[in-house]
Amino acid sequence: MKPPPSPPEPLPAPTVDAHTHLDACGATTPELLTAAMDRAAAVGVERAVTVADDLTAARWVVDAATWDDRVAAAVALHPTRTAALTDDDLDEIERLAAHPRVVAVGETGLDYYWDFSPPDAQQRAFRWHIALAKRLGKPLMVHDRDAHADILRILREEGPPPLVVFHCFSGDAAMARECVDAGYVLSFAGPVTFKNAPALREAAALVPDDQLLVETDAPFLTPHPHRGRANEPFCLPWTVRALAAVRDVTDERLASCARRNAERVFRLGELPSGPPVGASGAPDPRSA
Ligand SMILES: [Zn+2]
Repeated sequence: MKPPPSPPEPLPAPTVDAHTHLDACGATTPELLTAAMDRAAAVGVERAVTVADDLTAARWVVDAATWDDRVAAAVALHPTRTAALTDDDLDEIERLAAHPRVVAVGETGLDYYWDFSPPDAQQRAFRWHIALAKRLGKPLMVHDRDAHADILRILREEGPPPLVVFHCFSGDAAMARECVDAGYVLSFAGPVTFKNAPALREAAALVPDDQLLVETDAPFLTPHPHRGRANEPFCLPWTVRALAAVRDVTDERLASCARRNAERVFRLGELPSGPPVGASGAPDPRSA
């Protein structure tokens, strides 16, 4: 992947990157993480939720969320990682997801594009994560790739947790309408800027102001006109501006509304300040 582009013009109001993978962006140490968030803050992206997709990443995001107050975490096993789950794996995910700086159970869901895990194993894991979100009282962050009907059916069958976020929403207007009516929150990523995505823009246009988030899903899905380069939270303004144009609102209103929604959905205002504890759970000597 080519290095990230030069930064965009700063947003007129601060916003939040609702879904990113800072480890995969290379921000693997406290210094690199803070540098990535400084680059983001310089263009108005004041916070980010960094998301785990496997156990190693889950341990890392919980740690990383204590390195910098601008970073919160989400923990789950990605649907492509569900082929051979053990009870120990699930116990550890449950323990990590309970951490106070973990603001969502995700990303979980179904991925029928890749062939790493059979659909029945994915569906079992998805149902388990739905129950976990309910036990913990945290939002569910859904990954849905080529699996719209089964995602909606399983949410209905299990009974959705009070807050459900469709990360990188990829449906059309009909699916968006169904999600909006169910009270789900739709998070839009780089694809909303892609030339070949008119159906997605039609979906983005009909979501009410209070059910909308923006995200990078970095280092993937870099927005137009920088496809093919690495993505980072500082690239979010291109998506914010495209979405504002689609919805015929100002960039300022779009950025502010996505920030308020992220603060409400992920309860960012109630987050304890990091770093309260180390990876071992032992008190941090610096806070003693
Ligand atoms: Zn992701």
